[in-house]
Amino acid sequence: MKIHEFQAKQVLRRFGVPAPDGAVCETPEEARDHAAALGAPVVIKAQVLVGGRGKAGGVKVARSPEEAFTAARAILGMDIKGLTVRRVLVEPALDIREEYYIGVALDRASQRNTVIVSASGGVDIEEVAEQTPGKIARQCVDPVIGFRSWHALDVAKRGGIPAEALPGAVDLLQKLMRAYLESDAVLAEVNPLALTADGELVAADAKMVIDDNALFRQEELASLREDEGEDPIEAEARRRGIQYVRLDGDIGVIGNGAGLVMATIDEVRTAGGKAANFLDIGGGARAELVRNALEIVLMDPRVRCVFFNVFGGITRGDEVARGILAARESLEVRVPMVIRLAGTEAEAGRRLLDGSGLIPAETMQEAAAKAVELARA
Ligand code: GDP
Ligand code: MN
Repeated sequence: MKIHEFQAKQVLRRFGVPAPDGAVCETPEEARDHAAALGAPVVIKAQVLVGGRGKAGGVKVARSPEEAFTAARAILGMDIKGLTVRRVLVEPALDIREEYYIGVALDRASQRNTVIVSASGGVDIEEVAEQTPGKIARQCVDPVIGFRSWHALDVAKRGGIPAEALPGAVDLLQKLMRAYLESDAVLAEVNPLALTADGELVAADAKMVIDDNALFRQEELASLREDEGEDPIEAEARRRGIQYVRLDGDIGVIGNGAGLVMATIDEVRTAGGKAANFLDIGGGARAELVRNALEIVLMDPRVRCVFFNVFGGITRGDEVARGILAARESLEVRVPMVIRLAGTEAEAGRRLLDGSGLIPAETMQEAAAKAVELARA
């Protein structure tokens, strides 16, 4: 889960990493008033969960409250990589002398947390990584030994941090690491880490990605998730690792394979009905997975019928049938279910469903027609 720059800065500050303290504004008027309160100059920054805001025009320095107003008006509503800017961060601008990069990331290849440092920070770190990888230093962290001050000094030196900034960088790297570990992050990045005209190191930007699997024990961070417009059933499906998209019809659709599920949704439409959702159970159809999928689909009170469409390849029809029967036993299913099984062991699957009250169908078209009819009944 990504968090916004202003939120990441709050986290980092708590661990002792200096970062400008600003205010989040939703209107140009608010931005102007905050700029006036802070005293110019300020920097106005789009708060969207993507990088490259600077290049997209989403970061502007303003020298007066009026300029802050104009900048905020330009940035609010802007589209950055498909995201609409709804909020800007207004904070005291830094007098930046140098821009460095420091970050901690989970490196899956080495299965280690990795500290990354470069004196060539700023907006183009990806380019630096590609064209002059020698300017980027890495340090894998041994989980037993941990990230010690000598590691920090070594990686900061290799990253090209000049002598005058080394003590500060060593200190910040360790604080960044603590913030990363205690937040269960998979990425904590400061780019740029600004060396200001007064020789201070300050986080001018901050980015954190929290491990979704750790959100259960990171309540405060978990609560930052943008629920704006997020569907509660989709959120629950995501928590359970199920590919679910809520639609606005009344026929719950469950299938294996994204293509098949989309085709099923089309078929329902052709039969005159409307799917309530997209749900792909993927390969395999263990009872637990089927149960979870069914439970998610039934959370939608609009669902009046469930349409299972499973094409047996590696997934066997009899296994799916058993899964559905077991799921039905452990769940209170209040709507009719139409099951279309095809492919490997489909026949055996249909036999298992005989007399269960579940409605079998041989083709997708037949199943869709039945589902539409049952949903209307
Ligand atoms: P990103 O493009 O999404 O990574 O956004 P950043 O927060 O990194 O901002 C992009 C660039 O704007 C930075 O590399 C800086 O050069 C500049 N910038 C950001 N904050 C400040 C600031 O407080 N003062 C000044 N002068 N420049 C800033
Ligand atoms: Mn940045």
